Amino acid sequence: MAKVFQATHVGKIRRNNEDSLTVIEPQTFVVADGMGGAQAGEVASQLLVEVVKIVLAEIPAPWDEKILSRAILAANEKILDTARQNAEYRGMGTTATILSLNGAQGYFAHVGDSRLYLLRSGTLRQLTEDHSYVETLVRRGELSAEAARTHPMKNVLTQAVGAMDDIQVDAGNFPVQGGDIFLLCTDGLTNMVDDATIAKILQTAENPADVLIDAALAAGGRDNVTVIVAGVD
Ligand code: CA
Repeated sequence: MAKVFQATHVGKIRRNNEDSLTVIEPQTFVVADGMGGAQAGEVASQLLVEVVKIVLAEIPAPWDEKILSRAILAANEKILDTARQNAEYRGMGTTATILSLNGAQGYFAHVGDSRLYLLRSGTLRQLTEDHSYVETLVRRGELSAEAARTHPMKNVLTQAVGAMDDIQVDAGNFPVQGGDIFLLCTDGLTNMVDDATIAKILQTAENPADVLIDAALAAGGRDNVTVIVAGVD
C-alpha cells in the first residue's frame, strides 16, 4: 500500500484553478492541467478526470498502461465533442498524467507537460517526457536544459488531450520497490521549484504535498499548482 498526499492551489497570480486531480481506488492517481480561454481550461481538466473515473469503473483492476491509455483516449473524444458543441470551449485541452500501482508493478499513461517522478534511494528521476516544443528542441540538441527552463515558448505543448483528433499517449510499466516515492505534478510546481528542492521535500516533509505547494507559492506561485505524492511502504 502507498501513503498518499494530495494538494492543489490556484497560485498567487491566476484567478481560476484550471488543474484537476483525483485519487481512484485502488492506488491510482491522476493530475490534469487544463488550458483554453474563459472557463474552458477548467472544463477540459475536469472532463479528463471524470472520463478516466468512468472508464476505470467499468474495468476490474489492475489497470495496466493499455487500460490507462484507453481512458485518456476516451477523454480525448469527450473533450473534442464538448468543444464542438460549445463555441466558448473551442480550442480547450488538458494534460493528463496517470499512475496506477499494483503491488510490485507500476503503470503510467501520459500526455502533455505535467510530470511523473520517482524518488528512489535519494535520486529523483522524471519518468515521463514533456510533450512541449522546448523539450523537442532539447531532445534534438538545439537548446540546453538550462535555457529551456526560461524559454518564452515554454508553455507551447506539442500534444494535449482534447486539442486534436490524433494524440499519441506515452505509456509504460516499471517495477516498484518498497520505499519508492512517486510524485505527480503540474508545471506550476516544476516551473517554480527545482528538482533538488523537490527531492529534499519528498525525503523530509511530514506532509510533502503541502510543503511542495508552499515552496511553489514562496517562489512566486505564477501558475496553478497541483501535486499527488504516493509513498510505497
Ligand atoms: Ca499549468
